[in-house]
Order: sequence, then C-alpha cells, then structure tokens
Amino acid sequence: MTKNKIWLSSPHIGEDELKYVHEAFYTNWVAPLGPNVTGFEEDLENFLQNNKHVAALSSGTAALHLALINLGVGYGDEVICQSFTFAASANPIVYLGATPIFVDSEYTTWNICPKALEEAIQDRITQGKKPKAVIAVHLYGMPFMVDEILQLCNSYQIPLIEDSAEALGSTYKNKPCGTFGHSAVLSFNGNKIITTSGGGALVTSSVEEKNKTVFLATQARDNAPHYQHSSIGYNYRLSNICAGIGRGQMKVLHDRVDKRRAMNQFYSQIFKNSSIKVFTEPSSIYYSNHWLTAILTDSFETRENIRLELEKENIESRPLWKPLHLQPVFAHAPYYGQNVSEDIFNRGLCLPSGSNLTEEEKQKIKSILIPFVSK
Ligand SMILES: *Cc1c(COP(=O)(O)O)cnc(C)c1O
Repeated sequence: MTKNKIWLSSPHIGEDELKYVHEAFYTNWVAPLGPNVTGFEEDLENFLQNNKHVAALSSGTAALHLALINLGVGYGDEVICQSFTFAASANPIVYLGATPIFVDSEYTTWNICPKALEEAIQDRITQGKKPKAVIAVHLYGMPFMVDEILQLCNSYQIPLIEDSAEALGSTYKNKPCGTFGHSAVLSFNGNKIITTSGGGALVTSSVEEKNKTVFLATQARDNAPHYQHSSIGYNYRLSNICAGIGRGQMKVLHDRVDKRRAMNQFYSQIFKNSSIKVFTEPSSIYYSNHWLTAILTDSFETRENIRLELEKENIESRPLWKPLHLQPVFAHAPYYGQNVSEDIFNRGLCLPSGSNLTEEEKQKIKSILIPFVSK
C-alpha cells in the first residue's frame, strides 16, 4: 500500500518540457519574452483555431483583469459573473473598482443559468446600469449552455468573457471552449489540465486586442527611446522559462484530456447503480475535459462522510467551489437566482482526477468509495 498522499490534481510533466526550458537557458532567453512565449502562443492558436489570437500571461487572473480593461470596465461599472466558481473569476472586477453581479447556475451543466442571467440583465438595466460584460465559466471543464448564453449576450449587446481556465480541451458542438466569447481566459496553474507552473492566457478575436493586451502586460511603454507612458501598465507577461514548460505540455494535452476523461469513466463505473451521481455530460453536444470529476450525493452528511473517509487514507478530495454570493467578501454584491449552486455545493465533492494516478492508487480510492455505493 502506498503511503504517499493521493492528490486531487497534480502536475503531470511530459518528455519535452525540460528540452524547451534548457533551450531558454542556453540561448539566454531568461526573460518575460522570447521564442518559447511566441511558440506557446502559436501552439495555443493552432489548438483553438477559429482565427483566435493568444497573449501568454503570468496567470489566468491577470488575463481576466486585462480582458475587463480591454472592454473598458472601470470604477462604478457592473459586471455579471457566474456565482458558482473560484474567487479568481470575480476578483479582477473588484480590482477595477467595479461591482460583481452574481448569477446562479442550472442543474444541467452547473454553470450560469440563462433564465437567471436574463433576469439579472433586465433588472440591472431597469435600475439604470447596463452590465459592461458577462463572465461565464466552464466549471470543471463542463461547457456552459453556450448557445443560450451567447444569444442573450448578443441580444442585449453585452460582451461575453469565457472563463475557460478549467476547460482547455473541452468542446461544445465540436468547437473548442475558449472560442465563443468576445474573449476568453485560460489558466496554466499547477493544478490545471496542463501547467506552466503558473501562467495564463487571454484569447482574443483580433490581433489589435492581442497587441493591446501585450502592451498593457509589459508596463504600457509607448514607442519612444526613453520610458514614455500614456496609460497605466501591468507586469503580467509570461516568463520564457514557464512558456517552455507550456510548449512541452501542449504536446501531451490530448493525452491528458483522454486520461482525465478515463477517470470520469472510472468513477461512473463505481457509482453506476448508486444514488450518488457522477457529474458528466448531459448530451453529446457537450464534451468536457473532465478536469475534475465531481459526484453529487444525497446530502451534506454523505458528502462529508465520503470526504472524511478519504482523508483518513491520505486521499485528497474537495467540496465544490463555494458560490461567491455566499462568500463573506462578496456578501454585499447583488445576486440573482434561486439556490441551485448552494444545493450543489452542499452535496457535491470533487474526487482525485489527475492524469497521473496509478492503477494502485485508483484501486485504493475505489475500495473506500465502494461502501458508499449502496448506502
Ligand atoms: C484557476 C482559475 C482561475 C485563475 O487562474 P490562475 O492562473 O490561477 O490565476 C480563474 N477561474 C477559474 C474558474 C479557475 O479555476
């Protein structure tokens, strides 16, 4: 029996990452620019297709910050954000002095609910403030209801930002997540489907927006021999070292998606005759990278029992994202919807989903879950 901790989602490095990192050292491109940064951006553009332009940045959070700036979000503005997500989806709204307006999820994809979204948009407009953007999230890799959400954003003419931090490799109607919105955010943090140790990217629809993003991410230096600034800049560019890791990881992305999807299958088999439901695609138009596999139990108590049994064996599992409208820091932000995300949060649990779990580790996890199947 292994004594080592079994993680929820740990980095899984391939064969070529170190080659690109070495190359950066040998050629002295140890800076937040260089061939790996450019190469990684090209890899991502080739992967996403659909005429997208990618700016590699230091984190997904930084990407979201710049996405909002590109849309002109500023002090006193309002931005709609899915409530059921990680805090980083909403924090950049607050960095800009704007107010997040939180919207509940639906039970099908666990993502932003079209009905609640329309209610929120209409009510904010009635109150005299049209939201400057909508941030929708492909949570755990599951695409949100793209057609419904896009149609709403288009009809009210509000730009959509896709938080695709967890969804690289997911598709909706065979089109990659990260290509539907005005812009999209990717993350390459250590726990994501691929990693650069830390990093992110902004996916844009025009080369102008990409160039503006890179300009802002590199301290907004105007074109002059001295340091000349006519706007506020940021230090958000991705390092050429980290981008080297990213180039290697892009070569194994398909494999990592296959392996994460196999983990979802693994849990589906375990719980196939159980009242515990494994979260998976509602229909064939959705294709999730299953970054994390989550289960939905019948109650908070069952969820806690499973979590604590796993913890005893040094196996990491984690409750779902706590809805942001329930977070103390966002207690005063407006919220639209019922209690769908709250209910899912109370009963749901993320299980170890890494692409590098061994057969032995999987059998250990299974042996702890089996007693819960018929309960
Ligand atoms: C990880 C994550 C982010 C932030 O990405 P970082 O690279 O960690 O800054 C944003 N949104 C969601 C949904 C995430 O899971």
